[in-house]
Amino acid sequence: MKAAIVRDPVDGYVDIVEKELRPLEHGEALVDVEYCGLCHTDLHVAAGDFGKVPGRVIGHEGVGRVSKVGPGVTNLKIGDRVSIAWFFGGCGHCEYCLTGRETLCRNVRNAGFTVDGAMAQQCIVDANYAVKVPDGLDPVEASSITCAGVTMYKALKVGNTKPGDWVSVVGCGGLGNLAIQYAKNVFGAHVVAVDGNPDKLAAAEKLGADVLINRHDDNVAEQIQEKVGGVNNAQVTAVTASAFTAAVDSLRPDGRLVAVALPQGDMELNIAKTVLDGIQVAGSLVGTRQDLAEAFQFGAEGKVHPIVHTRKLSEVNDIINEMKAGKIVGREVVDMSK
Ligand SMILES: [Zn+2]
Ligand SMILES: [Zn+2]
Repeated sequence: MKAAIVRDPVDGYVDIVEKELRPLEHGEALVDVEYCGLCHTDLHVAAGDFGKVPGRVIGHEGVGRVSKVGPGVTNLKIGDRVSIAWFFGGCGHCEYCLTGRETLCRNVRNAGFTVDGAMAQQCIVDANYAVKVPDGLDPVEASSITCAGVTMYKALKVGNTKPGDWVSVVGCGGLGNLAIQYAKNVFGAHVVAVDGNPDKLAAAEKLGADVLINRHDDNVAEQIQEKVGGVNNAQVTAVTASAFTAAVDSLRPDGRLVAVALPQGDMELNIAKTVLDGIQVAGSLVGTRQDLAEAFQFGAEGKVHPIVHTRKLSEVNDIINEMKAGKIVGREVVDMSK
């Protein structure tokens, strides 16, 4: 089968190679991958930013059909459609795994980084952790919900989003377009969209963003304070540290900044504002199996439609370049049948 693996030496790109998978072990299933999206996290893995893993199959936005089950598997059967997510598996025993915070498990396995991922025609999954994709959800859209969708659905939960709240979505790319839809259509919030790219702002408006603000204006936070009185929570998906600092100033009292993107460096946090306005800052990392099942269900009900385009496996390095250049609106998803 064909797979996209991290280059050796590691240089930020992948090689498409023929690869044979090992036999299934207890509790595992084989998935014939139908679609896999490419995410900024894959770019970090390909570049060695989290540690170098030459030869690793990338990809954690995978969707496919179970084609074989190993011994001991009772929850999946051949033909089931399942997802392969960044949260590939936890230890199942620790404080975090036992209390609904399994993505923080210290022995977590991540698809496409610590174990082989889904940017391949086939992938081995841990059956206990492969979340089923509901009938009625388009598999291309499901691939995007597997990572970007569940990440933003969870981040909006972390932001304590309530009906009628104002939420800012800072960065309206692959994550942001889903943040807007979940915020509006699932949480019943109003949305301020912030981005520097007019195409992305136009897309945000189509998805229902109520207020649009260009990041290159020098008074982003002031504009948000003036127009809507500040936001109850800011969802920061932009890959620049300065966007985090600006987002703090856009919060209303008792507001919460939810950090989702992973730029290098530090954010500035004014201590007086934090204390006097009761500001909270929280990081949010992907979502649990339960979060993903919920995020999928809202997709199946038509409340969210990720912006997706299908591509070929041979184009992964081209997509990497397009992502680095900030040219992509939504998600590029590889169709493994092409
Ligand atoms: Zn991802
Ligand atoms: Zn654990």
